[in-house]
Amino acid sequence: MPILCYHAVDEAWRSPLALPAAVFDQHCAWLRAHRRVVSLADAANTMTDASRLPRGTAVLTFDDGFQGLYTDALPILLKHRLPATIFVVADTLTSTQRPVDWIDDPPTEPLKTLSRAQVLEMMSAGITVGSHSNTHRDLTALSEDECERDLRASREVLEDQLGVPIRWLAYPRGRHDERVRRAAARAGFTHGFALPEAPEPMSALAIPRVGIWSHDGLSALRVKTTNWYLALRSSRAYPLARAVRQLGRRRVAA
Ligand SMILES: [Zn+2]
Repeated sequence: MPILCYHAVDEAWRSPLALPAAVFDQHCAWLRAHRRVVSLADAANTMTDASRLPRGTAVLTFDDGFQGLYTDALPILLKHRLPATIFVVADTLTSTQRPVDWIDDPPTEPLKTLSRAQVLEMMSAGITVGSHSNTHRDLTALSEDECERDLRASREVLEDQLGVPIRWLAYPRGRHDERVRRAAARAGFTHGFALPEAPEPMSALAIPRVGIWSHDGLSALRVKTTNWYLALRSSRAYPLARAVRQLGRRRVAA
């Protein structure tokens, strides 16, 4: 089952990470009509292997916790009645309100992240929450102890601020290795979500997701939400999957 990874829904920010609301609305309408969108809880409870889930299903996740998820994405998700999970950088919810300093191509206006009140309102609307680490550092660049401290802090901050158990982690930039996965387990996470650019071994702490970028039109979305695309991505035939995706992009452009 494809677990899709979006980032921002934002009118003003031109970036591969940011979809305008109208485009996101089209994605949601298409998914509602052509796929069965299930919650990450349903997915996580039934799988560690992305290819084992029923055909035609998909999951929506969002990394980084930008404020556009509340202002722009939430009304669209509710309109189409689609479940979703947001992965929040924990330190952005504390009183220090960590600024967004991890984006390669930030807009001129500083990016805002969700407030605690907005996250709580999204939760009461059915959105589930996971950790996107405490400070969005590259976890593979930290020592195993540092990594465990960052991840444990993220879980404790989110549980304290939001009042629910936090057991899912989306690795910043999808980067993880054996040490990071061990640290994540010790920090209390049961599931870790990646964003592989090449085939990698799968486990409960290395569940692959498929990135959706602003250039992805409906043809690309259709390709990326098929089981055979996932199967190709997780095999040595991965370059073929890339070629197929390129094909989808050309069809969109045409
Ligand atoms: Zn991120």
